[in-house]
Amino acid sequence: MAAHASSDAHASAAHGAASPASAHGSAQTESPLSLRPGDPRPHSVQAAPDSANPSARPHTQNAAPAPSLDACRILAAARVHHPLALTDLKWSGYFHLNSRMVEQLRVNRVFLAGDSAHVHSPAGAQGMNTGIQEAFNLGWKIARVLSGGAPQRLLDTYHLERHPIEREVLRQSSFITHMAEADHGPLKLLRDRVMPVLASLGPLRDAARLQISELAIQYRRSPLTLERVLDGGPRAGERAPDALVHVVDGPLGRAPGTGCVFDLHDPAFFSLFVLVAPETVDDVPHDKPEPALRRKPSRAADIDRFIADVDALLPGAVRIWRVTDAVGEGGPLLADAYGRTRPCFYLVRPDGYVCARGRVSSDLHGLLRHCEAWFAKGAEPEPPTPLT
Ligand SMILES: Cc1cc2nc3c(=O)[nH]c(=O)nc-3n(C[C@H](O)[C@H](O)[C@H](O)COP(=O)(O)OP(=O)(O)OC[C@H]3O[C@@H](n4cnc5c(N)ncnc54)[C@H](O)[C@@H]3O)c2cc1C
Repeated sequence: MAAHASSDAHASAAHGAASPASAHGSAQTESPLSLRPGDPRPHSVQAAPDSANPSARPHTQNAAPAPSLDACRILAAARVHHPLALTDLKWSGYFHLNSRMVEQLRVNRVFLAGDSAHVHSPAGAQGMNTGIQEAFNLGWKIARVLSGGAPQRLLDTYHLERHPIEREVLRQSSFITHMAEADHGPLKLLRDRVMPVLASLGPLRDAARLQISELAIQYRRSPLTLERVLDGGPRAGERAPDALVHVVDGPLGRAPGTGCVFDLHDPAFFSLFVLVAPETVDDVPHDKPEPALRRKPSRAADIDRFIADVDALLPGAVRIWRVTDAVGEGGPLLADAYGRTRPCFYLVRPDGYVCARGRVSSDLHGLLRHCEAWFAKGAEPEPPTPLT
C-alpha cells in the first residue's frame, strides 16, 4: 500500500485497511493508495495499528491535525481506480519521508540495527529486509563473543560490514524516489523510456532483482574473509548458494544421502563443507566394493585430519559436512554452484555467507589461523582495518 511522492506525503490509517505486513509486500506493486509516477500531489500511506492498545500507536511526526476519514476518502478516490470503501478510522497521522543514518552502528556496548540505525523512503521496499540482515549479521557475532570466547573485535566487524550496505540502500531508495517523483527532465525520461526497455532484458532484470531483494549483498572486503582461488564457486564474503549434494559424512551421525546445502546449514552454527571427489567417498558398502568409488587412503587421511583440526578449534560451533556431487532434482549441481576443485572447503558463517574457502591440501594452516584470529576462544585482539 505504500506510496510516497513528496516530503510531506500523507499517512492515514483505517480499520480494515492494509496491515503493515501487506503494506510491505505491496510496495513493489500497484497498491490501493499507491504512488502514481509523475503525480505531483501528495500520496497516502496506511497502517493498521493495534486499536486495543492506544500506547502502541505510532506518534505523528508533526503537530498538524491528523487527516479525517473524509480526507482519506477524498485521497483514495483521487488515486485509486477501483471501488474502495474506507470505514471506521482508528488512527491517522502524517508520514514524512526521511533519508538519514547513524555514523556508527556500535558505540561500546550499544548496537544499532533496523530503523534505529537508518530510515529512508520505502521505495524499493528494503527497510525491513535491511534491518533483518543486520540483526542476523550481529546476532551470531554477539553469541560467538559471549558464549564462544571470540575476541571483542569480532563485534566491530558489524559496523564494518553493514554500514556501507546501509549507505547504498539509502542511495538507492532516494534515487528510486526521485525517479518516481520526476515530472520532467532526465529522470522522467529514464523512468518512462529507458527503464521499461532495461526491465525487458533478462540479465539486467535479474541483476536488479538480486539487488533489490538484497541477495546480492556481499562482504568480500570484510576482514572476516579468507579467500583462495578455486575453480569456480562463490568467493569468500559472498552468500553461500544452494546446491544438491551427496552427503558422505555429517554431524550428529547424519547418514549418507542426498540433500541441499540450504537444508544442511543450520544458522545456529558455522557450516564447514568439505567437497570431495567421488573417488574419495567411503560410504559404499564394503560387501559391494566398487573400485571407482573406493576411498584413497592417503587423501582421506588428510581430509580426516583437516576436519578434526577445525572441529578442535571451534568445539560445538561448527557443523562439518563431507559432501560430493549428486545427481537428481532439488537444487543446482554442486559443481555449478561451488566449482570443480576437489577436495576443497567452504566455511559458511551462521548468517549464510562464505567466510573462508580453499584447498584441503594447502589451506588448512591458513584456515586455522583465520579461525583463531576471529572466531576461536582466547584470540589476541588486533584493531580491524576499515573497509574503503
Ligand atoms: C509505508 C512503509 C512501507 C514500507 N514497506 C516496506 C517493504 O515493503 N519492505 C521492507 O523491507 N520494508 C518496508 N518498510 C520499512 C519497514 O517497515 C521498517 O524498516 C521496519 O519495520 C523497521 O523495523 P524495526 O524493528 O527496525 O523498527 P520498528 O518496526 O519501528 O520497531 C521498533 C519497535 O520499538 C518500539 N519502541 C520504540 N521506542 C521504544 C521504547 N522506548 N521502549 C520500548 N519499545 C520502543 C516501537 O513501538 C516499535 O514496536 C516500510 C516502511 C513504511 C513506513
